[in-house]
Amino acid sequence: MKVEDLLQRTTWDVDPRPHITVDADKCARCPTKPCVLLCPAGCYTEVEGSVVFSYEGCLECGTCRVICPMGAVTWNYPVSGRGVQYRTS
Ligand code: SF4
Repeated sequence: MKVEDLLQRTTWDVDPRPHITVDADKCARCPTKPCVLLCPAGCYTEVEGSVVFSYEGCLECGTCRVICPMGAVTWNYPVSGRGVQYRTS
């Protein structure tokens, strides 16, 4: 089964309390913005030079937490039972 097929079956039980927050001041000083390129869910987009973040479609891979050069990302898993729900069948 291809990754694309798996992702088409993916659903989210979105918690209204974000499990990831981004420090806007630190983010604004980031020269490279790798989150925009590397987030597999496209949660980070660049709009007129600024990063816009939305957590709702997060795949909980942890990439943004690791690659942010500014330490701007505060990352937790969603509360139990919420967030992404992968389905394999
Ligand atoms: Fe994107 Fe992964 Fe960070 Fe979620 S944890 S916002 S999918 S990079």
